[in-house]
Amino acid sequence: MQFIDLAAQKNRISDEIDTAIRNVLNHGRYVMGPEVSELETQLASFGEAKYALSCANGTDALSLVMMAWDIKAGDAVFCPSFTFAATAEIVAYAGATPIFIDVDPHTYNIDINSLERAIAQVKGDGTLTPRVIIAVDIFGQTADYPALHAISKRENMKLVADSAQGFGATLHGKHPLHWADITTTSFFPAKPLGCYGDGGAILTNDKELADIINSLRIHGKGTDKYDNVRVGINSRLDTLQAGILLAKLAIFPDEIRARNKIAARYNHGLGNVVIKTPTVLEGYISTWAQYTIEVDEPDALASALKEMGIPTARYYPRPVHRQSAYAHHPIEGASLAVTDDICTRILSLPMHPYLEEKDQDFIINTIRDFISE
Ligand SMILES: *Cc1c(COP(=O)(O)O)cnc(C)c1O
Repeated sequence: MQFIDLAAQKNRISDEIDTAIRNVLNHGRYVMGPEVSELETQLASFGEAKYALSCANGTDALSLVMMAWDIKAGDAVFCPSFTFAATAEIVAYAGATPIFIDVDPHTYNIDINSLERAIAQVKGDGTLTPRVIIAVDIFGQTADYPALHAISKRENMKLVADSAQGFGATLHGKHPLHWADITTTSFFPAKPLGCYGDGGAILTNDKELADIINSLRIHGKGTDKYDNVRVGINSRLDTLQAGILLAKLAIFPDEIRARNKIAARYNHGLGNVVIKTPTVLEGYISTWAQYTIEVDEPDALASALKEMGIPTARYYPRPVHRQSAYAHHPIEGASLAVTDDICTRILSLPMHPYLEEKDQDFIINTIRDFISE
């Protein structure tokens, strides 16, 4: 059994993938070839954005946003600590200060009250300028964007949706970009929409921002090929990956439905045995990047499952504010109590659109047996 079975997906679309790869090898435009612009058109349409720009990975997508807004030393960027390190890494890399915020105990997304207190804390202190909020659509469920949007407008700050795990997720039928200034995503193979290597994208409705990021991702290019107008980076999506993603995007809505069906079966089978099954709020549709439960002894359960051939993972046992490279950055208040607490109990189960019912039942029954023992 696989934690994420990419081979099952490959079997479903192997003809389309083979054709996509062969087409690129035939035309030979390996960098910024026609599949890249076609993918960007389709990503924009899928994500209801005016502009979509692909890039080398999800971390660069976030970094390009920091560069475009000139986020630098003296700037405060608010983000949750319960996330993959890249969310905070790009802030520190830009020389700015990540301010770690606590999360909601049910959705694990950025806690609005903790964010409000952190903004007041930074403003009261006066040494840093509040510039950006980076919300993370953790495990595939969008953050509370209507509330985040209101705060960002009131405070004259920018709002980023780090949707590496939640690309395709909606809130009241709308994508995060309906509220956020920009959405970033990752096409790392294990993400809900992944390629066969590294890849990423940004979506925005702001033409000026899209133009700047388009320049930044190609060495700061201007209109004259030989005159770079700003210092940029080299962060493009390979044409091969774009071709592969086009084949995967075609089945992505169907895969999101399959993931939701599997999540519902897990909820049903585990709801009355584990401490907590995932909470998806009314009006939200998750992409289920992870199906994460809370149990008393996650490591013991993980070992028991492993003995039965069931892989698991812990997202995340150590929040970013407790990692060596980030421990010196400010947090909201004296401690991030919810974040520290959930990290002791979380365990992520196999989740992908091709998880068969019999495998799922086996996972559910093995967990039930372990817990009732
Ligand atoms: C995976 C991930 C990223 C980084 O994406 P890469 O493509 O691996 O660089 C950023 N933020 C979150 C929340 C992620 O899960």
